[in-house]
Amino acid sequence: MLKKAKASLEHLYRVFTVPEQGDSKLAEIEQHLSANLSDFLSQHVVTQARSLEDLEQDFADFRVPEEPEFVSAHAEHLLDKLVANSVNTYSPTFIGHMTSALPYFHLPLSKLLVGLNQNPVKIETSKAFTPLERQVLGMLHKLIYDDSDDFYQAHLHSARRSLGAFCSGGTVANITALWVARNNLLKADGDFKGVAKEGVAAAMSHYGYKKLAVICSKRGHYSLSKAVDLLGLGREQLLTIDCPGQTLSAEKALQAARKFEAQGNKVLAIVGVAGTTETGHIDPLSELADVAQQLGCHFHVDAAWGGPTLFSHTHAKLLTGIEHADSVTIDAHKQMYVPMGAGMVLFKNPEDSNAVRHHANYILRAGSKDLGATTLEGSRNGMAMLVYSALHIFGRSGYELLVDQSIEKAQLFAQLINDDPDFELVTDPTLCILTYRACPRIVQAQLQQASSTDKERINQRLDELTVRVQKQQRESGKSFVSRTRLEVAKYPGQTITVFRVILANPLTTKQDLLDILAEQKAISEKTQTFQKLISPAA
Ligand SMILES: *Cc1c(COP(=O)(O)O)cnc(C)c1O
Repeated sequence: MLKKAKASLEHLYRVFTVPEQGDSKLAEIEQHLSANLSDFLSQHVVTQARSLEDLEQDFADFRVPEEPEFVSAHAEHLLDKLVANSVNTYSPTFIGHMTSALPYFHLPLSKLLVGLNQNPVKIETSKAFTPLERQVLGMLHKLIYDDSDDFYQAHLHSARRSLGAFCSGGTVANITALWVARNNLLKADGDFKGVAKEGVAAAMSHYGYKKLAVICSKRGHYSLSKAVDLLGLGREQLLTIDCPGQTLSAEKALQAARKFEAQGNKVLAIVGVAGTTETGHIDPLSELADVAQQLGCHFHVDAAWGGPTLFSHTHAKLLTGIEHADSVTIDAHKQMYVPMGAGMVLFKNPEDSNAVRHHANYILRAGSKDLGATTLEGSRNGMAMLVYSALHIFGRSGYELLVDQSIEKAQLFAQLINDDPDFELVTDPTLCILTYRACPRIVQAQLQQASSTDKERINQRLDELTVRVQKQQRESGKSFVSRTRLEVAKYPGQTITVFRVILANPLTTKQDLLDILAEQKAISEKTQTFQKLISPAA
């Protein structure tokens, strides 16, 4: 049982009062927590192998605790129940997701963020945080669009326009971009007051469109599907184009658009992805920009993952064409190594932010510089500060090193996989993401000779093997790769299951990668699926 405090106003005042210099209790708690955190982060991916169902027992009570707890007692409780059973995303062998290690400077700096508790929705609750956030947006805008000094001087701190919107992540950034696109397409016209005022049904009737669609490849992020749903287009109007080569063909996109528009519909936007979530591929952005121009529609680039590639002089050219996008999404909480909750959408034309401008009498007055007037979210934290800090502490050249080393490491891992006859590289890394699978050498030889029905049968077995290995590796807790299902050119008409690896953590070594492959091979060889695969009767 936790030792309980007693609810009293005196106790409450103490909780809200800035601790005095001599009061060492909180400092002690803080030190204790930091030490425990460091200890946790130096261990395996998962330290305690408890099932989720088991953990649910620790979080089973649905009544609000009646009596207050002492902070020290509660801190112990958190360490025991929460920290010990979380996932160590800092581990160099946690290479399955876009969430990875953070530079440690974010820990002390984030105390300012929480301590000051600013709300950039409005100047009155954020003051300097507002120009700071606008400057961060400006820096990313410059990185993408490289406009003139005059342009930035005119717009960086303008009350009437905005270079972008800061938000909690790529999902909200994508929704914001398509929201702007929708309101611009279905704008006020004659007696019609615009979709923002009159709604989708009135707008479609005014403009004479049956349906509106967004076009992307099958690798487009699911947030786009949420966006078309929310914006009243309907999920079926996210037209996802087959992409056996993992990128959106401009020609196929145009064909699909023409076919759709021939039926009395209109394409709202083409979305090119710069770094797909599953394989890290980059769509042909320049060609897609041309298609969007031919169609007279919005061109959005989802660079949530791959955007920071622009910091690298060596690799920035992979994103050529991004400067033609009407809007671009970037997540700072991915390859900019900022804590979760840092997404951005940038607008080529700063006037675009006005398509979603909103006023409210008590808070967002017309003519003010309140950021909340053009963001989807209302109250937010001042997370832009940590992007600002990271931009200063790393600098462009520091980010360049991070980007370059992660791409090199992915290329090295691809080489290690290619060199091992019992693995099959499925998609090469364009950025630092690659996919592969365990595929015993005998089976690889069989696959080369096999008829297409045999190939299908063998691939189904291999899918089973990949799932088993991925699950067991995750459960054993030393390392983590994720898995996904893909269509690839090599096996037409089929979807295969693959391991997915993201080499974002700069501390992951070649030895870590070799160990992960060795562990996978050991797990694989012990499965029944493996035995069935290599037996001659198979
Ligand atoms: C991660 C990601 C998103 C979604 O971003 P969140 O920050 O998770 O909301 C969108 N698009 C791509 C390509 C992504 O990688």
